[in-house]
Order: sequence, then C-alpha cells, then structure tokens
Amino acid sequence: MLVLDDVTVRYGDRAAVDGIRLDVADHEIVSVLGPSGSGKSTLLRAVAGLQPVAAGRVLLGGRDLAGVPAHRRGLGLMFQDQQLFPHRDVGGNVAFGLRMHGVSRAAARERVASLLALVGLPGAERRAVAALSGGEQQRVALARALAPSPQLLMLDEPLGQLDRSLRERLVVELRQLFGRLGTTVLAVTHDQGEAFALADRVVVMREGRVAQTGTPAEVWERPADEFVARFLGFANVVRATVHGDVADTPWGKVGVSAAAGASGERTLLIRPAGVRVGPPAGTGLGCEVVGRTFRGEHVVLVLRPESGPELEASVALREAPEVGERVGVGFEASEVVVLDSAPGGRAGGATRGTGS
Ligand code: ADP
Repeated sequence: MLVLDDVTVRYGDRAAVDGIRLDVADHEIVSVLGPSGSGKSTLLRAVAGLQPVAAGRVLLGGRDLAGVPAHRRGLGLMFQDQQLFPHRDVGGNVAFGLRMHGVSRAAARERVASLLALVGLPGAERRAVAALSGGEQQRVALARALAPSPQLLMLDEPLGQLDRSLRERLVVELRQLFGRLGTTVLAVTHDQGEAFALADRVVVMREGRVAQTGTPAEVWERPADEFVARFLGFANVVRATVHGDVADTPWGKVGVSAAAGASGERTLLIRPAGVRVGPPAGTGLGCEVVGRTFRGEHVVLVLRPESGPELEASVALREAPEVGERVGVGFEASEVVVLDSAPGGRAGGATRGTGS
C-alpha cells in the first residue's frame, strides 16, 4: 500500500529522515516509535506531502506521490497541529472534508451520523467543539480524518494530549475500530505503550534512521541493540563476554540460554523479571536495595551490588524487600537476551524483519 523507498528529508543540510525504507501493507497498522527529535513527524509530513522529499520515493498503491499535492494524496490526517475548527459544531467539523470533496449535503449528513456513531459520539452533530472533553475532541478529529474514506490514515501522537487512563482505553478502541474498518494506518508516537498496543508492527527510529522493525512481541522480546533496549525502558544492559551458555558480566557469571547465539564480546540485556531476589546468604550476588517503586502487581527494585552497575529487578509485591535491606541476587537464563548476537552486526541477528 505505502512504500518508502530510501526517503531522505533535510532541513538545510541536516537529514532529519535519512534513507528510510518502509512498507505498510493493506489493512496493516504500523506505529513509528522513537524519542523526541528522531524524525517521526518529519517522516509523516513527507508522506503527507507537507514536507519536500530530498531523495528517494514515496509510493501509495503503486503511484509515485512526487508532485502530488497534499490534498490529492488520498490520506486521512490526524495531526497535533490540526485543531478542530472552534467555530463549527461537531457535525460541521466532520463534514468539512466531505464538502471539500463535493459530497452532497444530504449524503454528508448521513456519513457524519454514521462516523459519529462509529467513534462513540452518536448524535453529537450539534454540540459545540469548545464544550467537548479532550477525549471527545480526539474522537471528532478521528471522525473528520476518516470521513473521506482515506486509503491511508496517518496519526501523529493521536492521544498525546490525553491523560493516561483515557489514552489506554482509547488506544484499545482505536485498534478495534481500525480492525473492523480494515483501515491502513501509519501512526507516530514517542509512547511505547501506545505504539505496542495499537500496532501490528512497530518501527523504532533513531536519528532519522530505522533502528528496528518488528511485531510488538519481536521488538519487546529481542531489542536490536542497546539503544532500542534502553528506549523501551530496560536498565540492565551491559557489555559481557559470552562463552557458550555462560556470560562474564560486571555482576559475575550469568547463564544465557543456549539459543542466545555467538560467543564473544556482546551486549547483554537481563530483563528485570529475570533478576531473582532472595535472602542475602548463599551464592548469589550480594546487593543492597536502594530503590523500590510500586507498580501495582509488582514492585521494581533498584539494587546496588557489591560490584558492577545498579540492577533493576521486578518482584511480586508480597515478596518485595524494603529499601536498605540486603539481598542475594541470581539470574534466570531465559530472561537474558544477547542483543547483538550476530557477529559484527549491531542490528543483526536480534532483528528479525529489520529494514524493508
Ligand atoms: P520527532 O517527530 O521524532 O520528534 P521531528 O521530525 O519533529 O522529530 O524532528 C527531527 C529533527 O528535525 C529534529 O532534530 C528537529 O529539531 C528537526 N526539525 C524538525 N522540524 C524542523 C524545521 N521545520 N526546521 C528545522 N529543523 C527541524
């Protein structure tokens, strides 16, 4: 459906998007994820025709979009800087694009009613935009973007302004809605939870390039490198020397699962769930608990070992020791990931599906 073929976008002589290759299939939901400044919005604006492409091609349904103005690209846009029209009512906002496309007044009225029902605001046509909550405004913006039945819907931080619980609920609704409609979606967000909940596939960006592409599970289970692992919030990332199924780490010897890959100097991720916390006696690594964050079902501990960097551990609430206590730590081989398991490659074996 959408193909980005080696697309570069520059501001002056700086490439904000640097040779990106990306395919989005029909009916697929792809989330572009990355820290602020990594080029996500620029990428979206280039596809939308709001930012000129310096090199490469953007193809939609096989058609090269070079020279096609934004409003003729057949895209639905829900961008942060495109607010609702404050002086039109809800119906007027949703109908706006339809009237632009020459849809008759009666047909537009019918379509607006069905779109408002679809986004959970049935009968809201006459309501004033200013009187809507943030979540309701997002729904109206979505209905407006969907109104002309775009080939591709593009969302820029669609839920960015909303509070957390509403965001978490809306993202589930959006995914269901897009699934039902068969909408093809390219969304950008800096929020990994949102990207992972919404998308069939996530693309992690770093400094204008693709750091990793994969399903949410693939990226979560096997981050391509230290950058992706840390961006996802993993703290226990260290250099280590792997020999077969054992790694020499700053925390001592750590078992790695046999399938983990090649021996040598590697970057290791130990998931917090793989850090086992027990009584201080015995063979474990002696640590002091220096941080303890309540996360609902579990507690995230920050542990200061006798040697090596601090460790994060995720433990059940009932079993969580207090700050200041001493504990013995062991590691679960199944939760240890060798990030750069392909020899020589930073974005190598751990990245099924990297690139296009
Ligand atoms: P993101 O959406 O991931 O936060 P952006 O695409 O907005 O990233 O920005 C990527 C890079 O391009 C950043 O370094 C940003 O400062 C720069 N940039 C964005 N917009 C402009 C602009 N209009 N002029 C110059 N530089 C820009």
